[in-house]
Amino acid sequence: MEIINGKQLAIDIKNKVKLEIDRVYLSRGKKAPTLACIIVEGNKASEVYVANKEKSCLDCLMNSIIVRLPGDVSQDKLDSTIMELNKDDNISGILLQLPLPDHLDEDRAINKIDSSKDVDCLTYTNLGRLLSARPIIAPCTATGIMRILEKINYDLSGKNVVVVGRSLLVGKSVANLLEQKNATVTICHSRTNDLAKVTSKADVLVVAIGKPEFITEEYVKNGAVVIDVGINRLASGLKGDVAFERVKEMCSYITPVPGGVGPLTVACLMENTLILDKIRRNIQ
Ligand code: NDP
Repeated sequence: MEIINGKQLAIDIKNKVKLEIDRVYLSRGKKAPTLACIIVEGNKASEVYVANKEKSCLDCLMNSIIVRLPGDVSQDKLDSTIMELNKDDNISGILLQLPLPDHLDEDRAINKIDSSKDVDCLTYTNLGRLLSARPIIAPCTATGIMRILEKINYDLSGKNVVVVGRSLLVGKSVANLLEQKNATVTICHSRTNDLAKVTSKADVLVVAIGKPEFITEEYVKNGAVVIDVGINRLASGLKGDVAFERVKEMCSYITPVPGGVGPLTVACLMENTLILDKIRRNIQ
């Protein structure tokens, strides 16, 4: 059994981004890309995520701006804020930190983001490209999961992969990328009958449900690769969706929480921002 070190992998990705920013922007006297994160105030976890993203931008020599909107902001104001960032040539990528308060329409706001600046790949245009197997970038968490599988040299072709959770942000996106690598992918969700029967046949099990330590021994096949996307904030600390201590010895590889998929999500966000900026400015 090997515990995958997502932190180290994320550092490696961010170092590559930093070197590339130095090579193609700073050493040529150009301004580094700028990531704009929009946060609608009122969600503690979102504050932590946005602070992490800001720090990662600094680590990568990238610029970062945080656009704060009050918790009772109107949809029109949110939409117009996004459209101003679309027009601002200095802004390379726009990330709308989710979830939004209930009175706001996430889908409508996300689709106001110009697809050339949509660093989380959540607009219909970019999701359409992903579904058509022609992605320019993919959602950050899904990309991070693929990086983990690349790192362990896992050949997905013909493998039985089960993804538990069907959100656009994680489950559906990663299922698409896995299928593009020729895995046979099953997506499970809250209405799946006898979940353990399905997941216990998986060579690779990806879990993104937001239920602390839900996946126990009976859900896991011996020798499986288990990727735990869940982040659950409990009084006892951060927990994943997988009961790590109970299943780890059954796995060939497993990601911990914290220190698994989470750091990779942020690293891939840096990479996506760089990719989109280079394309928009036609930089080689
Ligand atoms: P969503 O709430 O959008 O989706 C959860 C999915 O899990 C739904 O498809 C739901 O099914 C399914 N589900 C819920 N309960 C069960 C169950 N008992 N059995 C089977 N399926 C179930 O969550 P996200 O995809 O946004 O996030 C999932 C988790 O991943 C969260 O803990 C989140 O914090 C974490 N996360 C971590 C990231 C990282 O960087 N590590 C990034 C993004 C998210 P249904 O559709 O039927 O309701």
